[in-house]
Amino acid sequence: MAWPTPFEGLGRRAISFSISQTAAGAPAVRNFDFLVLGSGIAGLSYALKVAKHGSVAVVTKAQAEEGCTQYAQGGVCAVLGKHDSVEAHVEDTMIAGDHLSSRRVVEVVCKEGPMRVMELVELGAQFTRKENGALHLTREGGHSHRRIVHAADVTGREIERALLAAAAAKGNITFFEHHAAVDLVHTEVNGQKVCMGADVLDQQAMRMIRFMAPVTMLATGGAGQVYPNTTNPSVATGDGMAMAYRAKATVANMEFVQFHPTAFCASAVTGKPSQGRTFLISEALRGEGGRLYNQSGHRFMEDYDSRLDLAPRDIVARAIQDQMLSRNDSHVLLDISYKPADEILAHFPNIAAQCKTFGIDITREPIPVAPAQHYMCGGVQTGLSGETNVAGLFACGEVSCTGLHGANRLASNSLLEGLVFAERAVLPSLAHAEGTLRDAGQAMTRASQCPEFTGLSAPRRLSVSNNEWVAAKRAELTAVMWSAAGIVRRRADMKEALQQLAGMHFDVQAMWQSYGTSTELVELRNLMAVGELILMSALQRQESRGGHLVLDHPGPGLKLPRTTRIGGSNLSASKPAPPQLVGNGVPLRSGSLGKKTGGGLIERARSREVALKSQKEDVE
Ligand SMILES: Cc1cc2nc3c(=O)[nH]c(=O)nc-3n(C[C@H](O)[C@H](O)[C@H](O)COP(=O)(O)OP(=O)(O)OC[C@H]3O[C@@H](n4cnc5c(N)ncnc54)[C@H](O)[C@@H]3O)c2cc1C
Repeated sequence: MAWPTPFEGLGRRAISFSISQTAAGAPAVRNFDFLVLGSGIAGLSYALKVAKHGSVAVVTKAQAEEGCTQYAQGGVCAVLGKHDSVEAHVEDTMIAGDHLSSRRVVEVVCKEGPMRVMELVELGAQFTRKENGALHLTREGGHSHRRIVHAADVTGREIERALLAAAAAKGNITFFEHHAAVDLVHTEVNGQKVCMGADVLDQQAMRMIRFMAPVTMLATGGAGQVYPNTTNPSVATGDGMAMAYRAKATVANMEFVQFHPTAFCASAVTGKPSQGRTFLISEALRGEGGRLYNQSGHRFMEDYDSRLDLAPRDIVARAIQDQMLSRNDSHVLLDISYKPADEILAHFPNIAAQCKTFGIDITREPIPVAPAQHYMCGGVQTGLSGETNVAGLFACGEVSCTGLHGANRLASNSLLEGLVFAERAVLPSLAHAEGTLRDAGQAMTRASQCPEFTGLSAPRRLSVSNNEWVAAKRAELTAVMWSAAGIVRRRADMKEALQQLAGMHFDVQAMWQSYGTSTELVELRNLMAVGELILMSALQRQESRGGHLVLDHPGPGLKLPRTTRIGGSNLSASKPAPPQLVGNGVPLRSGSLGKKTGGGLIERARSREVALKSQKEDVE
């Protein structure tokens, strides 16, 4: 089959048209019925569905197609096979999640999944088919049956293409590319926290715009960039998790970071450390027979798990890490070359081509691989309709913690989660939008009275030296996270790391307050916040479970497994600044754009001490 070229039929002209209109002197406040932050599978699926009911703004940080979705290789799960069953998918998901997943949520997703995947087919997504025309189902680690719908090994690219083409054809959806949400606009109405939109940095025009909407869908994806080795693209800086946390949404299970066992180890070929996004060697390659060997040619998975190369990801990642550390090797080897070359090339054209650029022919030789951060199982806690504890704020996709993944995600369940929750959020969103007009209309009117983004909250590009400062802080942060909150953890290391991050976070906040708003500082502040959330959650959990292995408590706890939750605002440097008063004096928002606080050194030191003390109390 000839695969469509990436983003063929995307309707780019329609997208850029809406952007140039915005840039040409539009007001600093934009009103929509639905505000969608992020344009991956979650944001686009939701936008397409609510566009039938009102105007939709899709605000996205880079080009619309950039995000984890377009890099997904393996596929999306759906119980479509003759011998498969929803019950089997539920059990596989519960086992992978180390029994921390919510069975109710898992059942809903596994049951509704096939309908959502077939909607993608109707939308025009071209998945790989068998000769008889039926969808080809592949298998991945942790799955008891073949149930992965895929488009060769470029599934995410095909899904993103189909969704973007459909969205571009809808008159009701306006895209704002290169627009980064900085903070949510929120208030309290009758004692209930309410989200009314977001303050957004137009990165090209360098100006702030307040997007107002009764419903905001947070679909900003994951936070892989908080680690030095990640399969995630550069936009994955945890912005949604950090923004929601600052807006007092509950964040859950952040300690469960999934490390993919087999990312391409470029340094094995180039001799230089890998930089930026690490290319993923999909689990499907092991599903189709790929075998792991150490550098002495031993099939080491035999020593760790009876499921060998198809054991769940956390087990394989730890086994590889163990081999690398104990043998002082930089990588292990993944070999599928014993299979017929035409079969390999038909199923893995993208992986073969990527490896070829490093001089590796996967039909003849093994691939050097090592673990890398891959997925955040935790995030903004939602109910079964994607609703959060902040009215008007919904979350969907990797940014959310719906209860599906528990302590570890089953392969190919995340694209599915985005599809299922995008649909489930539609009706509650409509109900909320109507309710808002009744209950929070006045607050929304006040908030939309043109906000001033001047002084310290004004956008400003960073100088070369400030950019270097940001890069150095990011490198420091990611190194701390890899050593303290990586594949194997120790409590003492995590406590020390939390203190280090509190200091760094404070410096970042001070830098922002001196230099104004820029994408680099927005991302750095969010990465610091996410790092702290991961460490705080990890310190709350007094056991090892799923993706969280802590040597001080090597086994699962004796009590029933529970979800770790962090709510309210107990992060150090993101302690709320005095509420900003807008219009009739309604406190709107805390944090980034608030007035400068605590400028003096003594005050800085004092608030840092208080912050550290409160963190200590949180985690003991
Ligand atoms: C290499 C790789 C392979 C994978 N393979 C699979 C697979 O085979 N099957 C599977 O189920 N899952 C897979 N995953 C995981 C899956 O791709 C993601 O979990 C899923 O695509 C997340 O979708 P999303 O819509 O939540 O986020 P994303 O697709 O990451 O989209 C997030 C969007 O938010 C935008 N954004 C971020 N911050 C801001 C901000 N401040 N303001 C505005 N916009 C913002 C981004 O620009 C982007 O548009 C893979 C992931 C990777 C990285």
